[in-house]
Amino acid sequence: MKKQFELIATAAAGLEAVVGRELKDLGYSCQVENGRVRFTGGVKEIIESNLWLRSADRIKIVVGQFPARTFEELFQGVFGLDWENYLPLGCKFPISKAKCVKSKLHNEPSVQAISKKAVVKKLQKHYSRPEGVPLQEVGAEFKIEVSILKDHATVLIDTTGSSLFKRGYRAEKGGAPIKENMAAAILQLSNWYPDKPLIDPTCGSGTFCIEAAMLARNIAPGLKRSFAFEEWNWVDRDLVLRLRKEAQAAIRQDLVLDIAGSDIDGRMVEIAKKNAVAAGVADDIVFKQMRLQDLRTDKINGVIISNPPYGERLLEDKDLIDLYREMGQTFAPLKTWSQFILTSDELFEQRFGRLADKKRKLYNGTLKVDLYQFFGQRVKRNTEKVG
Ligand code: SAH
Repeated sequence: MKKQFELIATAAAGLEAVVGRELKDLGYSCQVENGRVRFTGGVKEIIESNLWLRSADRIKIVVGQFPARTFEELFQGVFGLDWENYLPLGCKFPISKAKCVKSKLHNEPSVQAISKKAVVKKLQKHYSRPEGVPLQEVGAEFKIEVSILKDHATVLIDTTGSSLFKRGYRAEKGGAPIKENMAAAILQLSNWYPDKPLIDPTCGSGTFCIEAAMLARNIAPGLKRSFAFEEWNWVDRDLVLRLRKEAQAAIRQDLVLDIAGSDIDGRMVEIAKKNAVAAGVADDIVFKQMRLQDLRTDKINGVIISNPPYGERLLEDKDLIDLYREMGQTFAPLKTWSQFILTSDELFEQRFGRLADKKRKLYNGTLKVDLYQFFGQRVKRNTEKVG
């Protein structure tokens, strides 16, 4: 099997640089591109990146890239790749995804079918199986993806399984949860550090608070879940165990955190508490039921992070307009607090009553949202570097 792999960490639009920074912090060199960050590594890096990346979606192996203007070129290109280095006899290898963009080949089901035939033929040849007899697919699963962009095919194997935002701690999530990896990215884009108070006054299932505590305590986000690669015969089980143990030992126990989450909906507060227990950070967060309009604090230099309700019907929805106005009035006295508010409402600043110091465009799923950033006064006066 192979020693070195070309790898990509996929990321939501707008978060690639955060993923790049996380990879650099893990000690890897990488290249940030649209929607992905490229890096290289061996089995250890596949395990480590899945276990540790907080903001990425998935880690994929690039099996190969080649021009694919016709089905024949596609077939030969896929056939020519070194599948024997990845796929043991008997494994499942669905072409789980085919995507064609700005290319002559555009029928995605046909791209899937042709690619499948090419991999089957290659494995039959390599494992000396008769052609015409289908290969049994019963063992571990290797999900293959083919994407063709401008007549150029990239063939990938997903190492992750269910997306990395699924940490395994959020059993219940309420109606409009933010993805865990998006929350982790926003925290890293903010100027919050573990020594500052943090409040999420619309905490819902508690994602921001929980991700903040995990970040502060250096809890690997993948510690409580499994990954597709763990089923693969060429991934050393002892190495996985060792890296999981090391991650467990790397958790910081010596911190006192000041993190608070509140929500108008008492049921959500109960869910948030349960999720924090599951994530192992229940002692770090105080959750309570409260309207954000009732938020008061004497503390200074804290950070508020919130994704208040928003939606397509926002413009007609008087309740939400009132909520944003009241939010502005409630937060206004907290002059030393930085505020990071995620909403799709383009008139947010007008309703909130204050112009953002900075705005950042992000995507919550397919919905375009903005992260409105207001920096607390102490940060501004000292012109301290932020973010
Ligand atoms: N980030 C959360 C989702 C937030 S959705 C998560 O990951 O789960 C918005 C939340 O704002 C909802 O839970 C809703 O109950 C809450 N909310 C609505 N109006 C509120 C108010 N006036 N005060 C506090 N919370 C409010």
